[in-house]
Amino acid sequence: MAESTECVFCRIVRGEAPAHVVAESPLSLALLDVRPLAAGHCLVISRRHEVWWHDLTAAETADLFGLARRVARRLKRACRPDFVATYARGRRIPHVHLFLVPSFAGDPLDRHFNALEGWQEGADALAALADPARRAEVAARLAAEPDEEAP
Ligand SMILES: [Zn+2]
Repeated sequence: MAESTECVFCRIVRGEAPAHVVAESPLSLALLDVRPLAAGHCLVISRRHEVWWHDLTAAETADLFGLARRVARRLKRACRPDFVATYARGRRIPHVHLFLVPSFAGDPLDRHFNALEGWQEGADALAALADPARRAEVAARLAAEPDEEAP
């Protein structure tokens, strides 16, 4: 994709928009997110405009993740989180950016991922309930229960 004049990350790369840049590498920049989920929340962006991280070149990908690792290790020392979570999107700002979020047990990101994991595990629990043998067993128990008079 051609470099966009409207893209805020491209403007930051060109020095045309302000940012708290915390580290650089030949093909990537790391900067503080303007809407942090935690103190120290950084974004690692490619210098070249591309929407999805998997469309970067192999060299750009290695550089991006190498810088992410360097910054995550700094965050671990500077902010003392349990760990540094990472994920990549590209929907809100369509320019490659890895999120580096210092994560603590019970913080909003931790609760978000716990909810996602609960949803994944819940699908298995619901599938087990839908099993025909399990449903027949529950139906037999329910049918065998006598009616009670309402109090
Ligand atoms: Zn861009």
